[in-house]
Amino acid sequence: MPDIIQLLPDNIANQIAAGEVIQRPASAVKELLENAVDAGATEIRLIIQDAGKALVQVIDNGKGMSETDARMCFERHATSKIRHIDDLFRIRTMGFRGEALASVAAVAQVVLKTRKPDDEIGTYIEIENSVVVKQEPVATPIGTNIAMKNLFFNVPARRNFLKSNAAETRHIVDEFIRVALSFPGIFFSLTSNGQEMFHLEKGTLKQRIVQVLGNQYNARLVNVQEKTDYLNIQGFIGKPDTAKKTRGDQYFFVNNRFIRSAYLHHAVMSAYQDMIAADSFPLYVLFIDLDPSQVDINVHPTKQEIKFEDEKIVYAFVQAAIKHALAQFSITPTLEFDLDPGIQQLDAVSKPFTEDKQAAAATSPLFKNFSQKHQAHFIQPSEKSELKNWKDFFEDREQTAGGSQTSSGNTSGQKFESLLDKLKGEDIIPDYAGFLQKPADTGIPGRLQLEVDEQSRLTQLHNTYIVASTNRGFILVHQQLAHERVLYERYLKAANGKAIASQQSLFPVTLQLSAQDAVLLAELMNDLNQLGYLIEPFGAQAFVIQGTPADMDQGNEKTVIENLLEQYKHFTSELKVSKREKLVRSLAWQHAIKQGKALTEQEMKVLLQELFRCNQPNTTANGNPTYIEFKKDYLEQLFKR
Ligand code: ADP
Ligand code: MG
Repeated sequence: MPDIIQLLPDNIANQIAAGEVIQRPASAVKELLENAVDAGATEIRLIIQDAGKALVQVIDNGKGMSETDARMCFERHATSKIRHIDDLFRIRTMGFRGEALASVAAVAQVVLKTRKPDDEIGTYIEIENSVVVKQEPVATPIGTNIAMKNLFFNVPARRNFLKSNAAETRHIVDEFIRVALSFPGIFFSLTSNGQEMFHLEKGTLKQRIVQVLGNQYNARLVNVQEKTDYLNIQGFIGKPDTAKKTRGDQYFFVNNRFIRSAYLHHAVMSAYQDMIAADSFPLYVLFIDLDPSQVDINVHPTKQEIKFEDEKIVYAFVQAAIKHALAQFSITPTLEFDLDPGIQQLDAVSKPFTEDKQAAAATSPLFKNFSQKHQAHFIQPSEKSELKNWKDFFEDREQTAGGSQTSSGNTSGQKFESLLDKLKGEDIIPDYAGFLQKPADTGIPGRLQLEVDEQSRLTQLHNTYIVASTNRGFILVHQQLAHERVLYERYLKAANGKAIASQQSLFPVTLQLSAQDAVLLAELMNDLNQLGYLIEPFGAQAFVIQGTPADMDQGNEKTVIENLLEQYKHFTSELKVSKREKLVRSLAWQHAIKQGKALTEQEMKVLLQELFRCNQPNTTANGNPTYIEFKKDYLEQLFKR
């Protein structure tokens, strides 16, 4: 009998080990972002394609690697961050196990370009299946540019385990947000399929929270900051009136590392007791810093769980710090009264913090340790200006909600008058009268107004374009974009007035969401109801779709809502666009008939009628043209007539 035990080849051993570290594209994102942070980068760009399945790329301007290091970094247990076992207890960097790049190289095709600031030339390395397939000098900017392509290309079983693109993108966004929140001093961007989802300028933590978690928190954050010899806590918590029925905006970082801790969550919740409804959750973004020797971050491979040397002290400290912050906030709201009487109406301000609670917080033994310097810092000098912004924010919203439609005034008078009259009685076209004010008629006198020639046939080209003869020449209409405009105005009207009727779902679909998306959906729920989607919460992060717009086929509502949440996040950088506006744009985009769809002549007719009943028929809400006009004189010129 021959011996049967063999050593596994490196690449297989690495693949197995990779299973622990890289479970999905988001795990790679986390590791690569952390490496960039550890490298001292001040600008970090994350680029993904196909939810990270096709590409995860991180470009940083950090310290780069030498040629040897660039090759070494893909070896298992290769790290520059610890040398001795004792170092483990002094860890200040995000990584230290030396496993991430080895794992990535085992399950993806990796291209690395890196250059140290003092080197003239950088190093290019291509690696696949843990094997270097190409290495050469390369001209490249200072820092590291690492691209991980086709994750799990060589482990199809794992690839099949990946979830939908929407779900995987959400995981990536979650990781991105965690890193972005813990390093507000670093510029971050996230580009997904060529579209920039996040563009986060360097700033304060408060600014970063508002950038990432939403403007609704602007001026509604309470500063938490306490220091003792043993540990420090700093960060922000939401004023009680910002608490939501769904979880999602709760973040703990220990020594800048995101952690999950039901225990510490409980500490925060208990501090809010009686200030918020029992089933609601306040926002918090809290950073606990303590001597690394007091924590064991090594207990879990993905490093999200944590063991404190003395858990009870940390609990009591967190609870006391939050109570203190809340007490500070509710006994000193006078500054706010001076600034804006509207704020007095806010629940958080009018709801008193009971006196014995204040006393309890103030006499808590932990506070005796706090140095004077770090107390009573809630009202920061910057608070004033932020309150002003808070007001601006609401004004902006009002403007965008009603104003965007009327902003361009060159579109009036382009109507299908006669056809319209015919159809009015039949109620095919929703009546837009009374919906946003029509822009003033700016038609230049003497110039013919555009009118589609009803007698002539409509022609569809490439199942995408509709050619229609007009009194001035002809127009080429893009069916998808035109329909997007029509739906946009219809939904906007519904969002601001009479709700769209819904039909009860026969088989209500359940949506299980990430914490972040659940919060988002909870926020959008009322507006969605207006638009015909009846959605109800169903537990912490689940929702049931009870009804869909009456004029819509049922079946794909789940996808619609998932896409909507994704898109909604794409829009987050456009702060000027109101919540409702984003929602309406996204739904219009999703429900529009697509290019490539054959239309009957009747469908084309109705589409054109509806288009020219719009307030702003010539572009979509995003500014794309819906049709192009070819005037007779222009055509004649072309043919030199
Ligand atoms: P760890 O981060 O645990 O040390 P990794 O496998 O993530 O292990 O990285 C291995 C080593 O490669 C790091 O210790 C670091 O020296 C180097 N490295 C990785 N990414 C970068 C980067 N973006 N810039 C500079 N050096 C890097
Ligand atoms: Mg690392």
